[in-house]
Amino acid sequence: MSCLFCQIAAGNTPAQILYHDDLVTAFRDIHPQAPTHILIIPNQHLDGVAALAAGHAPLLAALFTTATHLATQEGLAANGYRLVLNQGRDGGQSVFHLHLHLLGGR
Ligand code: 5GP
Ligand code: ZN
Repeated sequence: MSCLFCQIAAGNTPAQILYHDDLVTAFRDIHPQAPTHILIIPNQHLDGVAALAAGHAPLLAALFTTATHLATQEGLAANGYRLVLNQGRDGGQSVFHLHLHLLGGR
């Protein structure tokens, strides 16, 4: 398993984990682009959003509900926040394990 985010989800590579369950893991981005910058990932490896199929509906729901719960926990709910998904090299994706960015606080 050479994928960095697979290693973080499995607990083999350290990260500031904020949430973990059967489906998803959330942790702070190592190079934050905003006062709050959290990554929410599926525990299972998917290259990106383009790899999603209809059967991933529960996983997709878990990614977004985890993001909104963490946004509330981080005090972002009142003023709002951004959720960003980069797909592919031209989409700005640099880690090829699906991840949702939660950005807020400015
Ligand atoms: P992308 O550009 O693929 O959408 O986002 C990848 C994100 O992963 C970047 O914001 C980058 O800072 C973050 N990242 C890369 N390596 C690590 C790491 O080892 N630990 C953590 N916590 N974040 C990382
Ligand atoms: Zn992976």
